[in-house]
Amino acid sequence: MKINKIIFVYLLVLFFFCISKSYSQFLIRDNQDFTFSSLHKNAKILDVDDQQLTINQVLKISDDKFKTLPNDNTDLGFTTSNYWLHFKIKNETNDDLQYYIETSRPIVDVAEFYQIKSNGVIEKQVSGDIIPFHKRCFQQRKTIFKLNIHPLETGNYYIHLKSDGEVINAAVILRSPENLVSITSFEQIIFGFFYGIVLIASILYIFFFYAMKERVFLYYSLYVIFIGLLQFSIDGYFHQLVTPNGGWFSQHSVLIFAMIAGSLLGKYGEVFLKIKQYNSVIYILFNVVYALAIVVIVIIFFVPSLFAYCYPLANILGLIILILIISSVIYLYYDKKPVDVFFSIGVVFLILGFGIFILNNFGKVPNNFITQNSSKLGTGLEIIFLSLSMGNLIKKLKEDRESLQTLALEKSEEMNEMKSYFLSNISHELRTPLNTIMNFIDSINGETDSKTIQEKCEVIKSSSNSLLSSVNDILDFSKIEKDEIKLEVFEFNAHKLFNEVYSNILIRAQNKGLDFQYVQSPNLPKFLIGDENRIRQILMNLLYNSLKFTNEGIVKFKVDCEIVDDLVKMTFIISDSGEGIAKEKMNSIFDSFSQQSINNKRKYGGLGLGLYIVKALVNLHGGKINIESILNQGTICTINLDLKKVDEKLIAKILEPSDYDLKGKRILVVEDNAMNQIVLKMIIKKWLNTEVDFANNGEEGLESLKNSKYDIILMDLQMPIMDGYEATIEIRKGNSGINDKNIPIIAVTADVMESTKIKVIELGMNHYMSKPIEKTELFNAILNLV
Ligand code: ADP
Repeated sequence: MKINKIIFVYLLVLFFFCISKSYSQFLIRDNQDFTFSSLHKNAKILDVDDQQLTINQVLKISDDKFKTLPNDNTDLGFTTSNYWLHFKIKNETNDDLQYYIETSRPIVDVAEFYQIKSNGVIEKQVSGDIIPFHKRCFQQRKTIFKLNIHPLETGNYYIHLKSDGEVINAAVILRSPENLVSITSFEQIIFGFFYGIVLIASILYIFFFYAMKERVFLYYSLYVIFIGLLQFSIDGYFHQLVTPNGGWFSQHSVLIFAMIAGSLLGKYGEVFLKIKQYNSVIYILFNVVYALAIVVIVIIFFVPSLFAYCYPLANILGLIILILIISSVIYLYYDKKPVDVFFSIGVVFLILGFGIFILNNFGKVPNNFITQNSSKLGTGLEIIFLSLSMGNLIKKLKEDRESLQTLALEKSEEMNEMKSYFLSNISHELRTPLNTIMNFIDSINGETDSKTIQEKCEVIKSSSNSLLSSVNDILDFSKIEKDEIKLEVFEFNAHKLFNEVYSNILIRAQNKGLDFQYVQSPNLPKFLIGDENRIRQILMNLLYNSLKFTNEGIVKFKVDCEIVDDLVKMTFIISDSGEGIAKEKMNSIFDSFSQQSINNKRKYGGLGLGLYIVKALVNLHGGKINIESILNQGTICTINLDLKKVDEKLIAKILEPSDYDLKGKRILVVEDNAMNQIVLKMIIKKWLNTEVDFANNGEEGLESLKNSKYDIILMDLQMPIMDGYEATIEIRKGNSGINDKNIPIIAVTADVMESTKIKVIELGMNHYMSKPIEKTELFNAILNLV
């Protein structure tokens, strides 16, 4: 029994001895189909803190001091200590074997591998990102060493690992060459996919930023770039490809990129979710985190003594940013604010990815392929989902812009309508008193013999004319802009027109002390067909400019013509010896509101609309205008217009009436303005055999029609109680008496908008005349209709 006990104890000791032997030594046998294996069960580890030991010193340390490794990728946490790993491999085959040992993460600072040969020779290999990449014994982004064992030999190995505060994972993985190749190509596919997504997303969203000028795209694109750079560093590619000589940046890149990427993620999430608008507390917290990230970056650059603290701090800040984004999403859901569902899914992947990665850094989750690459997987999926959410954002922005555009269009149409209404109103308000002033002045001028009063009348008339011309310019400008301007082509007395222009300019030229020459072609027919008023407007505008910009010398006006069949090809040349136009200004003189300079404007006044209107009117005639000018020498303006000759038979008809006789006709004037009534009375009372009655508004007009017989109505448009439009409708319906249903009606109005002219004709009025009323024009119009 005693012997049995002894044998049992002996066997037990032998068993444990065998176990402990096999625990520290990995066996490779002949029949093993071996590709890779973790040696953590066979390896032991020693933490020597900050002691910089040589291999010979380590060899002297007893094996008892080493501790076992609990798992295949033992997490040593954030550390600056020196670690020594020790393991043995026995080759029980008859072959010379070659394997690879993979240890730690690619970004470990110092990784040294020692093979202690049976003859006592020590072979050393180095890796880590503190040394230039080409000095790595095995040139791979990961920390890998070559290992060979002779037949039936036991290899004795040590690995030294050291970091500057970053996490160290004490892995000891033995890989066959085939396994190394296959794992590397598998990783390349995964990494290619990941970095491809990163590259495409970052470029795409930079383009979106340029196109849409929304800063959320910029933050997102920059975040993707920096998260890509962070992964690039963690994977060891940054050291291999960007900083192959190692050094400061190679060592600090992970932290710098992590801090920038984290802050950009926060900024992107915060802007995307519009947190500033919805919750000021979370917004302030975001800003505190950015400030802390800046502090960390400052420490990295300027306070090396605190550097080791930066790794855990960076991870904590990363976690806080994630927590803030989650809090924002939860808050918005809770507050029933819109949150894009793809954004929420993207954030979930990000949290899973980085959450696991950070927890892994703190050694709180087991180490495996998923936990090691969780940040990459999470980031990849997160980028895909955030890109989908950005797609939704683009759709929303597009919709917003479209509805803004529609709104702007509606607004601009409204504004346009208001502008037309305003202009028509202004024109009415200014023209009505102008009509009174001008007709009164004419009348006073005709009735007085006093020279001084006549001179004063001339001054008032000339001022009224220039006011009227400014009002006309503004109205014409708005008509040209709306493409509403039309020519009113009738037969007119060309000689009379050019003489009027000549005498008008002559007085002004003389007043300014300028010479004025007028030359008229002897071939010029007396009557032509065209828009007399518009031709006058063109010539007056150009001549006024010549007078305005000439302080001494001469202004010439030449009217030439060539008759080809029934066409009269007119050439007007207006030249002056004035200040001329600078070359660089020539291109823009026909633009609206164009003037040579601000000084010019102050000196000469004017709206800068004259040439713009002239050009539009010449174009409307199908004519040509050319201006040549030399600074300080003068300007020549040439206009070519094709007008028509008047048929001989028609000439008699258009001659000015020798006497104003309406042969017993009765006129009803419907007009609310007392002054206008007086003006019309003054004009009509001089006509022979003509009776005129007045009504103060449409309603009174209808009454008058019921009570008396009239031959024609002069109808104002804007009136109280019943306006001219309503009155016309009533008359045409026969509501003022069936006999008056077709009575000729002439609209006499200060409103010169094209739309008004069209409207009055549509309502059934027979003619339209604008104030100020010209007596001959009014007489001829009435004569034509009665
Ligand atoms: P405005 O005369 O109201 O300023 P215009 O459209 O008629 O506007 O003319 C535009 C500009 O062209 C003027 O301000 C002036 O600088 C230049 N200009 C036009 N005609 C002459 C001219 N005969 N001599 C010199 N400058 C001229």
